[in-house]
Amino acid sequence: MESIKKSCIFYGAVINPKSLQSFSVSPQCLLAVDAIGNIDWIVDDVEPHTLQDVLASKGCIESEVIALREGEFIIPGFIDTHTHAPQVPNMGTGGQYELLDWLENVTFPTEAKFSDVNFARETYTSVVRRVIDSGTTTCCYYGSLHLEATKILADIVYAFGQRAFVGKCNMNRHCPGHYIEPSFEDSVADTQTLISYIRSLSPQQDNSSQEPLVQPILTPRFAISCTDDLLSSLGNLASSDPKLRIQTHISENKSEISFTRELFPSASSYAGVYDMFGLLRQNTILAHAVHLTEDEIDLIKSKDAGISHCPTSNFNLSSGIAPVGVYLDKGIKVGLGTDVSGGFNVSILNAIQNASVAAKVCSLQTGNSGSESSSMSAIYANKQLSIPSLFYLATIGGAAVCGLENQVGSFATGKSFDALIVNVRDEAGNPTIWGLDDTNFTNLSIEDKKKHLEGWLERFLFCGDDRNIERVYVQGTFVGGRTFRR
Ligand SMILES: [Zn+2]
Repeated sequence: MESIKKSCIFYGAVINPKSLQSFSVSPQCLLAVDAIGNIDWIVDDVEPHTLQDVLASKGCIESEVIALREGEFIIPGFIDTHTHAPQVPNMGTGGQYELLDWLENVTFPTEAKFSDVNFARETYTSVVRRVIDSGTTTCCYYGSLHLEATKILADIVYAFGQRAFVGKCNMNRHCPGHYIEPSFEDSVADTQTLISYIRSLSPQQDNSSQEPLVQPILTPRFAISCTDDLLSSLGNLASSDPKLRIQTHISENKSEISFTRELFPSASSYAGVYDMFGLLRQNTILAHAVHLTEDEIDLIKSKDAGISHCPTSNFNLSSGIAPVGVYLDKGIKVGLGTDVSGGFNVSILNAIQNASVAAKVCSLQTGNSGSESSSMSAIYANKQLSIPSLFYLATIGGAAVCGLENQVGSFATGKSFDALIVNVRDEAGNPTIWGLDDTNFTNLSIEDKKKHLEGWLERFLFCGDDRNIERVYVQGTFVGGRTFRR
């Protein structure tokens, strides 16, 4: 792994998400990263002829400056708030099923293979490489139910330098006999062992406010696959460890919801099941949330839990469309998830594209594509998602869902430099991006350059792929991308 051994300075275009409604575009930005990978300072508009003076004023005359070319720009790394590492080999298969049949016929047979640690090592090496090269700098991984295989996944993530949460699935009922945990006690014991193991990989530094790169996460697969005593033990574990994140599925599919209600008759709702066991809190990541009731939306908001919107998977498994705009209007934290292999692409770019389509379908169904809204307070419900909104969900939104909004998701002094260098020049080799036309570009005004950059960002979000992701940085370290040398 090539790393930045000393401070490093980037000079070129930087696009920085600010809110659901805006991002900043700086065509001539100077951004300095310190020796531990945090952003030291940012100067927004530096004319080439003043570059040396600005560097001198910062005491950085000797520093290495990486100058970007026209058609290259820096954005924060993407955050995938929901994916399943052992399902990557299944991508693009099983789309004829809905959730419960898909689990039985496609997912569980593949996940069961991860009892073989050699298979796990080989597969996860390829999986993590692909995820990083696709521009995901922070990833919430579900492993299989196996302790050893999930330790290997954490080892690989750590060795490759990605920021991640890694959990093993808790599942002790309603799973096939060959792929189920023998008891709730075994499930909890393995979970505790995994938590200690992952925390030993990169211990928290006492003097650092920053969290370790790789962290454990509680992963009750979903309510159906966990007995009451398992959920109750996991709730106790969570309450003794407030920083421990929790990830699970919620309200993805109508058959799943009815079965859950049957299994937990005393719970007020599906969300109520997790709440009843102490698993719904400010660092819980709920994947899907396609069919929540009003009461569940209010409960999730009151607990400040986050939602991982996985539109590709929701289309592919015919689950439905999550009303993301409603959640955003409520002020619920929302990020994007690929949900491989319910989703058929490891790239958050694909989630962005399908989130856009999903929101457009919502707006068409309600006849609300224009400026009217059903309620005066509705800003996002049943409307298209704008480019700033999509960019925000993929970056800051995901960071907030993970509880990392002060550390990653955008660029600011003191935050970690988790970033992508994007290249939309023809040389990147992606035929779907009508790339840079650099005739006269250098003579454009700053305002015109900003307009070009906005256009390139939109083309990248909708037509880009890993060929356009030249470099991937996590905590200031160059960890992947098209030009990464292994
Ligand atoms: Zn999932």
